[in-house]
Amino acid sequence: YHAKQTRDRLAIFQPAMLAKVQQRFIVEQDLKKGLAQQQFHLMFQPIFDGEHETLSHAEALLRWQHPTLGSISPAEFIPIAEETGYIIELGDWVLEQVADVLDSWHIRFPTNQCPSITVNVSAKQCQSATFADDVASLIARHQFAPQCLGLEMTETALLEHSETVGKNLHQLHALGIKLYLDDFGTGYSSLSLLRQYPFSVIKMDRSFIMDIDQPNGKAAPLCRGMIAMAHAVGLTVVAEGVETKQQLGWLRQHQCDYLQGYVLSRPIARTALEDWLLPKSHQRMVLVHG
Ligand code: C2E
Ligand code: MG
Ligand code: MG
Ligand code: MG
Repeated sequence: YHAKQTRDRLAIFQPAMLAKVQQRFIVEQDLKKGLAQQQFHLMFQPIFDGEHETLSHAEALLRWQHPTLGSISPAEFIPIAEETGYIIELGDWVLEQVADVLDSWHIRFPTNQCPSITVNVSAKQCQSATFADDVASLIARHQFAPQCLGLEMTETALLEHSETVGKNLHQLHALGIKLYLDDFGTGYSSLSLLRQYPFSVIKMDRSFIMDIDQPNGKAAPLCRGMIAMAHAVGLTVVAEGVETKQQLGWLRQHQCDYLQGYVLSRPIARTALEDWLLPKSHQRMVLVHG
């Protein structure tokens, strides 16, 4: 028995796991150098109006090009940035970048209605006592209208330090910033968060959209319910991760307000997004596959 236990324990130290621990260590060390060495950039994923088929807004998504490890997914480095507290600096950088883009649009496309950009904010940011003040100062230092900035937060980001979070969210709302509840339906307390905080939009999580066209499945009725519920309390709905024409058709048929996903567009570079904003360009949504 003893021998077996020892063997099991030894099995924990696999080379693959060691490599993983090392990689995590490298990521943690290198994150801090990334900003100074300009290894981060933003991509923008267009989000379309389901009824009018026009570009509605875009979500800014952070990318990290590591000098030796290559491109690292935010799903991997954001949690590490959160644990180390570095997310505050990184999050500020993202907000400044987006503010600069919005300012340039304000000048370049004065006649167009300025499309908004949403920024993902993490738990640490929401829970920071100065977060709303920092955003207020960002707006004061820039020209763009506050309605052009959206902030996306997940349910888990809002669960702790609720007094500070509440103060921040109400102050942000008062500034005219739209609040988006991201990955809706995957957390523990979606409905109470909707009651407590001034959200304008829910983003139905990709896991629901994925199964929407399964016959007799639960995803479709749940989506129908989420859309009806959101509309009943004056919220709009984004479907995230729309990958097929069938899903797209279903969502449009069921009055989902906004659509985001690879079937419409992957995240694209800023310049590519700006092509959509030029007066001559066709702004209607185009299916990637067909
Ligand atoms: P999220 O906010 O839920 O963003 C949507 C994610 O789904 C993005 O992944 C996007 O590229 C991906 N996506 C969009 N359409 C489709 C689709 O049709 N199919 C599939 N399979 N995926 C789709 P990404 O860019 O890898 O970001 C992952 C997560 O990392 C984000 O999830 C967000 O939570 C976080 N993140 C990204 N940028 C930032 C940032 O600047 N700050 C913070 N705090 N978090 C960020
Ligand atoms: Mg998001
Ligand atoms: Mg999401
Ligand atoms: Mg998601």
